[in-house]
Amino acid sequence: MIKKDVIIIGAGASGLMCAIECGKRGRSVLVLDHAKKSGKKIRISGGGSCNFTNINMSPTNFISNNPHFCKSALSRFKPSDFIALLEKHGVKYEEREQGQLFSARSSEEIIQMLENECNDAGVNIILNCQIQDVKKDDSFIVSTDNGIFESESLVIATGGLSYPQSGASGIGYKIAKQFGLKITDLKPALVPFVFSQKDLKIFGELSGISIDGTIKCNKMEFRGSILFTHRGLSGPAILQISSYWKEGDTIVIDLLPEIDIYGIFVARQLGKSKTDMHNLLSEYLPTRLAKFWCDSNIQSKPVNQYTEKELKNISHHVHNWEIKPGSTEDFKTAEVTLGGIDTDELSSKTMESKKVKCLYFTGEVIDVTGQLGGYNLHWAWASGFVAGQYV
Ligand SMILES: Cc1cc2nc3c(=O)[nH]c(=O)nc-3n(C[C@H](O)[C@H](O)[C@H](O)COP(=O)(O)OP(=O)(O)OC[C@H]3O[C@@H](n4cnc5c(N)ncnc54)[C@H](O)[C@@H]3O)c2cc1C
Repeated sequence: MIKKDVIIIGAGASGLMCAIECGKRGRSVLVLDHAKKSGKKIRISGGGSCNFTNINMSPTNFISNNPHFCKSALSRFKPSDFIALLEKHGVKYEEREQGQLFSARSSEEIIQMLENECNDAGVNIILNCQIQDVKKDDSFIVSTDNGIFESESLVIATGGLSYPQSGASGIGYKIAKQFGLKITDLKPALVPFVFSQKDLKIFGELSGISIDGTIKCNKMEFRGSILFTHRGLSGPAILQISSYWKEGDTIVIDLLPEIDIYGIFVARQLGKSKTDMHNLLSEYLPTRLAKFWCDSNIQSKPVNQYTEKELKNISHHVHNWEIKPGSTEDFKTAEVTLGGIDTDELSSKTMESKKVKCLYFTGEVIDVTGQLGGYNLHWAWASGFVAGQYV
């Protein structure tokens, strides 16, 4: 039986970062993963360019039953720390909208950088390795189809349930349950909405239309692209709000943020405009959407024929269009999993289980979920980094 100081299950973002840090401390480290390559999700992240962090990082960008849990790790591993690592390896990056930092060339360079760091820290990685069983006596015993391994500390860095095609499995939750740790409800997040059967017939004709709008639900608000698909709604603003949406909730879309459409109506009336409302709205919105919106919400007629009250009402509804999604798509298309190992079970300083000594959890498997924009990878780096100081 091979004995190590630390075994990490999962060669993804948080597992590799944890391995680098504890390897640098002189711990003997073994990383096990069932995938053929490490960092599969890093590879596909950000459309292959890896949105690896966000310079506007704040605990408010994360969802958790305990919103304070992420604070310690985020304060000890900042975006500038990851940037320093990239600069040390000459990996070029660029800032895109809303503080999002991407690899300037490809995600592959970031994976290569992490693998080189692991190599320098003497970390051993075994890929293509199926975990069969995990036990704890005085130490942890991990049985696999590649042999049986023993370690003093065990880190579970197996990610969430989303994108099973990229190696996600529920093993992290299974191990947590085996050791008596609580898990919060698990839900797909950063995921498109699906219309109910009834609405699909109604909204179907909008498929392919994209607008820049604002979307609100449960006191959260996001601005960005909203895309009507053949199944429902997608686009960055939709993915963002999906993490806050609960079944039965209505979402409210501002079709024309920052445009004072009521002021425009009044100006047109003063000019005695006879333009039909749907034609006027199509000056600001895609024609198909303007026509659809008028057909389903108002009686379209020449602008000069509306009363002041009617125009105020139309303006209110353009800025507050209510839609009730039927559901979200499932884990197959969700970028992340909402929920995870209950943060009450873990030390926010070390990520160690409070119940089981030397058992650690890092990354997405924990009940900490970031918004879209580099926050989830940053949580993986930060939680892996802090755990790596103690394992
Ligand atoms: C399409 C897509 C795009 C994304 N884009 C971004 C982005 O641009 N920016 C961002 O911040 N976040 C992004 N995310 C989210 C981000 O990739 C994850 O939150 C992050 O990778 C989580 O890191 P982790 O280490 O916790 O888990 P992962 O990176 O998922 O790593 C878990 C590892 O555990 C291994 N594993 C799982 N089960 C087993 C098992 N049974 N046996 C052995 N090994 C196992 C997996 O093979 C994997 O290597 C994206 C996600 C998806 C799906």
